[in-house]
Amino acid sequence: MSSNQQQAVSVYTVIKCVNGDYETERPFQDGDYVLKVVGICPKDGGNLYIAGIYALVPEKEKES
Ligand SMILES: [Zn+2]
Repeated sequence: MSSNQQQAVSVYTVIKCVNGDYETERPFQDGDYVLKVVGICPKDGGNLYIAGIYALVPEKEKES
């Protein structure tokens, strides 16, 4: 399907440390995929990997 309609969907990438002591998220970047190693944990130096990618669909605006 192709559509020019663009909804304001925000996609986020969840990043976790392999040792489970650190978790963060940031806006999705091109090339992100689950289990990709994206950095080093600031706490213990372990690898940070992408644990998940999700989209936030904004709620409909209330009609006034
Ligand atoms: Zn860590």
